[in-house]
Amino acid sequence: MRRTLIAGNWKMNGSLSSIEELISGIKDGLAEVTNADMAVCPPAIYISKVNDLIGDSGIGLGSQNICDQESGAFTGELAPSMLKEFNCSYAIIGHSERRSLYGESDELVAKRFAMAVQSGVIPLFCIGETLEERESGIMEDVVSRQIDAVIDTQGIDAIGKCVIAYEPVWAIGTGVTASPEQAQAVHAFIRSKLAALSEDVAAKVQILYGGSMNAGNAKELLSQPDIDGGLIGGAALKPADFLAIGKSA
Ligand code: PEP
Repeated sequence: MRRTLIAGNWKMNGSLSSIEELISGIKDGLAEVTNADMAVCPPAIYISKVNDLIGDSGIGLGSQNICDQESGAFTGELAPSMLKEFNCSYAIIGHSERRSLYGESDELVAKRFAMAVQSGVIPLFCIGETLEERESGIMEDVVSRQIDAVIDTQGIDAIGKCVIAYEPVWAIGTGVTASPEQAQAVHAFIRSKLAALSEDVAAKVQILYGGSMNAGNAKELLSQPDIDGGLIGGAALKPADFLAIGKSA
């Protein structure tokens, strides 16, 4: 049985005071979230502070990226060992904003993925198609290509060590959500693609949906058989909304 994970991607939002309010609000309602694990991925500069604020509440912690190298002359990057020092269990890798705004290729994303796994940090591995790609009928090819970049370099078992986040680019931050049927269809496609290589990996890997998931649409999305949680952007910045998504599981 796959456990539900609700992870908040705070992107480049927050301040010292707002993150205190946010974590305290989540902690206040956490006991009512009984069927999901909750995690937050703050901007890098706040990871240390959020680690302190979280304490032993059980909220998971993740970064928004991770370097593909262990240490050295890589200005602006975050070493896996640094993330581990601050209890980051997860690292978002391959988010569409990193791919489209900062030019991260499938190859680089796969290298970051490898370093995360090697260091014991769980990749929150983001994949998903643009609207143009969906409308031109190549959605499955795109998602396959993104996954194959990891499988071809690290093997199918590496996928068993990550959490996949299917995030259709057209649904991220737009207020347009994939319908539960649309999301389920892609999640099922991903799982069947993995099953062709390993039934075991396919059965155990968590596949989250991301793209304008909110308190109003979470229940229906999370009730789909192949949707194992959510990667939440905007709605993760308000404790009540984030908790409501967790309670929908
Ligand atoms: C995201 O950035 O991963 C995301 C899903 O954002 P939003 O929920 O705001 O669409």
